[in-house]
Amino acid sequence: MNVPDQRTLVCGGCGKPRVEPSTSHSGQIAPCPECGSTVRTYHLHLTAYVRLYAALDMRCKKMGVGGWRVRQFVGWQLRKSVGDFVRKVRRIDRVNNRYLERVETADGTVLRDADEALSAHQGHGTAKGPASK
Ligand SMILES: [Zn+2]
Repeated sequence: MNVPDQRTLVCGGCGKPRVEPSTSHSGQIAPCPECGSTVRTYHLHLTAYVRLYAALDMRCKKMGVGGWRVRQFVGWQLRKSVGDFVRKVRRIDRVNNRYLERVETADGTVLRDADEALSAHQGHGTAKGPASK
């Protein structure tokens, strides 16, 4: 969203809007024709929009056993090929041999919707090997 910056100049004495140059020919601030004040107040209104993309990456482990048992990612992720952020939910469940992944664009277009046996998914990026960090 783009909102133009707003600038206003008012007399510091009476508060009435001023449109004249802030200085006279001599370089002095011209007195207000209403109240004679040479004080001027500038109001500058700036607006900025910041959007946050949060994500949570969880790993479930069992005491005394190396590696994780369930790993889940929920949140926004940068899609490098396009340069936008996509919403992703991914659950890799080694205990129940399930792989779920759903990826959507910000407008809700589904890019991927997988629910399959993890053993059928092995070899892809996040599903490699039983003992990762
Ligand atoms: Zn004035």
